[in-house]
Amino acid sequence: MRRGQIRFFSLVAVLCFLAAALSSPLIDNTQQGVDAQAARARKAQAEVRAAIELLNSQIAWPKDAPSVSLEIGDLPDSVNGQYNSALQQMHVTGRPVEPSLQLTLLHEAGHYFDMKIMADAFLPKPLPLLSLPGGITLMPAQFSSREAKELQAWRKAVRASKLYQSLRGMLTNGKTPPPSGLTHFILYVTSDEEMWARSFAQTIAARSGSALSQQTFDFVKPRWPLAGYWNADDFGPVSDEVIKVLESRGWLHPLKLKTSAATDRN
Ligand SMILES: [Zn+2]
Repeated sequence: MRRGQIRFFSLVAVLCFLAAALSSPLIDNTQQGVDAQAARARKAQAEVRAAIELLNSQIAWPKDAPSVSLEIGDLPDSVNGQYNSALQQMHVTGRPVEPSLQLTLLHEAGHYFDMKIMADAFLPKPLPLLSLPGGITLMPAQFSSREAKELQAWRKAVRASKLYQSLRGMLTNGKTPPPSGLTHFILYVTSDEEMWARSFAQTIAARSGSALSQQTFDFVKPRWPLAGYWNADDFGPVSDEVIKVLESRGWLHPLKLKTSAATDRN
């Protein structure tokens, strides 16, 4: 990096989904391999498009919401997506992921909501940039999920959920220690910013009535709690609080009630 060049740095939120990769990233230059790659890319694009439509069907974006660039493609194997709040960049993998790349995109949108939309609305003012010798500028990341008083009830609901309790319990109660090497993962998953991104994604999927919601619950059940998402019987109070936060600033489109052909004549 040249002297004097400005480099922005912020905490980058990443998603490290357990059991993420379904296929090996080996390069296959045969025609069959190239065709398979093209098919995967088309599938990834279709899933991302569907996720954006789903998001826009639910979220009423503030007029001044900054646009974010989105890239689909190579990320390290353990990472399904990331959002960089300094550069306004979102990146999701092109690999097949479970339960769906749609959930990954909703999850990253949750980080954007936390660090940008809600930070602008709920936190006092952006922290000043820190200038370091050599023209390096540090941009401190701000998480409303950690700090905003408007999210206090949501934090309480998360901490009372069986998911959070059982993950944290693995670290503290000594009875069910986490599988080896997973201590760091558990601390990461139960951080406020990860819990927000995950509860945002699951709430938006459920509220939209999309099949993604059930698909997520089906994925979580046999992998609970290490999948890091909520089971259906545990999610209600958390989801209610996500909705309250989003409704408090008019960030949700009204629910479209499905009209039924049958009329109640009572
Ligand atoms: Zn994340």
